[in-house]
Amino acid sequence: MFSRKAPGYTVTHNCKKCGDCCRVDGYVFLGRGEEKRIMEYLAVCKKEFRKRFTDRFFLFGRVLKLDAEGCCFLVESRCVIYEVRPMQCRSFPYWPGVMRSKKDLEHVMSYCKGTGFYAEKRAKNAP
Ligand code: SF4
Ligand code: SF4
Repeated sequence: MFSRKAPGYTVTHNCKKCGDCCRVDGYVFLGRGEEKRIMEYLAVCKKEFRKRFTDRFFLFGRVLKLDAEGCCFLVESRCVIYEVRPMQCRSFPYWPGVMRSKKDLEHVMSYCKGTGFYAEKRAKNAP
């Protein structure tokens, strides 16, 4: 079990390996250098990689393609590029929004059964 402290609560995480976070309706953005790393891992050229596995997201760069099952790299509930998955996936569920807002945390908890939280206990003699 992992945990990270947010203001007023601590977010806990114990992944059940269900793959549900890769099935939710959303976008996985490719950060600087991530495209190249995944391309090399898959041994495909840039043209093929972009065509098969990514979509352009307005002016914000590229995102991983979604298919009927969710992320195109989710196969039988496993990430087939796990070793080189993007930072957005690596840092889940400790995203800035989740660490700032209980509403965002509750949204993540609605689809990820591995995520939870506990509230801070005030010290007995706290002012
Ligand atoms: S939804 Fe949560 S428990 Fe399931 S694989 Fe994703 S992180 Fe793990
Ligand atoms: S890249 Fe892997 S971990 Fe990230 S959403 Fe796709 S299947 Fe899930």
